[in-house]
Amino acid sequence: MAQQEDVFKKIVSHAKEYGFVFPSSEIYDGLAAVYDYGQMGVELKNNIKKYWWDSMVLLNENVVGIDSAIFMHPTIWKASGHVDAFNDPLIDNKDSKKRYRADVLIEDLMAKYDDKINKEVEKAAKKFGETFDADLFRQTNPRVLENKAKKEEILARFTAALNDNNLEELRQIIVDYEVVCPISGTKNWTDVRQFNLMFSTEMGSTADGAMKVFLRPETAQGIFVNFLNVQKTGRMKIPFGIAQIGKAFRNEIVARQFIFRMREFEQMEMQFFVRPGEELEWFEKWKQTRLKWHKALGFPQEKYRYHDHEKLAHYANAATDIEFQMPFGFKEVEGIHSRTDFDLSSHEQYSGKKLQYFDPELNKSYVPYVIETSIGVDRMFLSVLSASYCEETLENGETRVVLRIPAALAPVKVAVMPLTKKDGLPEKARQIIDDLKFDFKCSYDEKDSIGKRYRRQDAIGTPFCLTVDHQTLEDNTVTIRHRDTMTQERVSIDDLAKIIGEQVSMKTLFKKIAE
Ligand code: ATP
Repeated sequence: MAQQEDVFKKIVSHAKEYGFVFPSSEIYDGLAAVYDYGQMGVELKNNIKKYWWDSMVLLNENVVGIDSAIFMHPTIWKASGHVDAFNDPLIDNKDSKKRYRADVLIEDLMAKYDDKINKEVEKAAKKFGETFDADLFRQTNPRVLENKAKKEEILARFTAALNDNNLEELRQIIVDYEVVCPISGTKNWTDVRQFNLMFSTEMGSTADGAMKVFLRPETAQGIFVNFLNVQKTGRMKIPFGIAQIGKAFRNEIVARQFIFRMREFEQMEMQFFVRPGEELEWFEKWKQTRLKWHKALGFPQEKYRYHDHEKLAHYANAATDIEFQMPFGFKEVEGIHSRTDFDLSSHEQYSGKKLQYFDPELNKSYVPYVIETSIGVDRMFLSVLSASYCEETLENGETRVVLRIPAALAPVKVAVMPLTKKDGLPEKARQIIDDLKFDFKCSYDEKDSIGKRYRRQDAIGTPFCLTVDHQTLEDNTVTIRHRDTMTQERVSIDDLAKIIGEQVSMKTLFKKIAE
């Protein structure tokens, strides 16, 4: 675990050192849980967004996009339930004065029992070797069963407490299971209180009577309130989806773990409108499609898992998360929810406007049901960064840090390097860039030894380095060096666009999703 935390620290400092992510307002000592993306970060982020956007609107004829405003009529947040119920239960440790989410403390507590079980299994696997039957061991070993029973006992109390909104019981669980504050090490807890996560501000001057408005905590409501606009003007037929990428804001209580939990972040959400009764089929379909989108990137498949929700929000009839193995454990990156007709019906009620669809095949009108896929750009960014980060010892004993970012997402695709700064090599290198720059983000580098230049490109994840040498001037070839294998080959300059194009194209990824 300590080792993993170490890796995480290295990733955070690497992200800063190479222009991916900076703390916001750094010269003023930063602003908690707010971050800026630097020159490399913005490229990676834009590529992630493009990968998502195109996978929605290019691959699906019946999915279209919108871009709605961050400010919305305040009643929208009444209708969506955010004013009354977008709360986190918070608890303070009186000694360290640190604030925690009570639900997160309990979830961590349960995860400890899972860890204990997994350790028992690992230990036994080592001891018994090939004949070991892990399933049987899990079903019969007394220590495993004891830990499992403890976890289930907590889960039952936790679920009941959440369902009844019983804050005292949440505190009691923390007390009963002797959860200690990681900072002070004590069990000196305050009561649990609810805390609304929405930021608010005022619109219009006070003289006119300013209106309290919220910064949206999710982009989804902008889609719901535009449902009929898009359906009518786009002549959309159910089933169809509306996709949107945009900023969202949450006054998170516990804002740690870098860009995993931010107060200003970005979401990529898609609401898919379906006939009532067909929602679970579509839920299943989107659940599969979204996992394929993640897996197409080529990171180890075991880094992904579903986490089906045991406790459903009152409006949902199915929900799952796609979790990714971050350096600090498996964490939610994306949520897929079957939201029934809750949002549209509620907006009908609050606005007094009909939000229904006339289904020509059924010859009747109804409020559509909705499947939502909702993923955080920043969490996706963190998952790509942490899965890509790699420290390697080379044959000559040197080490290199390489970001094995999937080529389609890499911030810079090609670095062009003249072997020396003279003999017309820089000019030739510039010529190559001038040809390639219309299609690929290129970078020119002539400083330091070629080895050092390779290291710099490895550190930002550039998939290809081209070296221009004297032979280039004679036969119009360059060496192309591949980031991951470090192999080099000589190729004709005329073939570069094709070779690079094939590797960095998102098409290969899209084909895997469409399979
Ligand atoms: P969590 O339980 O981790 O707070 P959530 O279940 O509240 O997340 P959703 O409301 O389902 O999250 O939001 C959808 C997606 O938006 C999440 O899967 C995540 O990727 C992203 N997201 C939510 N909150 C944040 C945040 N504070 N910072 C960065 N990304 C976030």
